[in-house]
Amino acid sequence: MSLDLEIQALLRSNEVKQIDFSMAGMLVTGHGYWQLSNYFSDGPIPHRVRVLVRPAVVGRRSNAHYDRDVIRVKSADVLRTLSGRATVVHECTHAQFDLRALHSPIRSEEGAAFIAKAIYMLACNADIQEIDDAVTSEIREIAESVLASYRITRSTVQLTQDEIDIVRRVMVHDFRYRNGHYTNNGISGQIYRGL
Ligand SMILES: [Zn+2]
Repeated sequence: MSLDLEIQALLRSNEVKQIDFSMAGMLVTGHGYWQLSNYFSDGPIPHRVRVLVRPAVVGRRSNAHYDRDVIRVKSADVLRTLSGRATVVHECTHAQFDLRALHSPIRSEEGAAFIAKAIYMLACNADIQEIDDAVTSEIREIAESVLASYRITRSTVQLTQDEIDIVRRVMVHDFRYRNGHYTNNGISGQIYRGL
């Protein structure tokens, strides 16, 4: 199977379906990942998220990178490890914001991508230490609470203002994201406005 279709299958997996939350109006949902999955193909389609193996662009310290309708990954084997799949889920969260054309503050969008990554790792029953190493214990604890609520209600979980403040603080102090906004303008102009 091509890497494009492998990522499509990841976005439709039972673990990714359990990612469903909103951070001050910024929606990240299983529906959103499913919508996004339709933009992955191993053949030509009019609106497509392209997947490229580009280790030099991704760099040594990460597994993947999303920018303007393209996911660049470190290797064709990126989905073979949990940490690789979790990073692709993080990058696909950026792609979901792009598909929703949400103009978002960098620290909020990165925070949401880390929460999504942590929920994915929890849903995969990953080792707690591995999750904390990837996202910090603060993010993992919020993700645990969001996932537990989702499993009870089966509907989108709103992060509290206290949780959002913690997430943004971790993005500043632990991950050192700068101030500013990301430009999200749809997947080659296609925009999704649903849940
Ligand atoms: Zn990111």
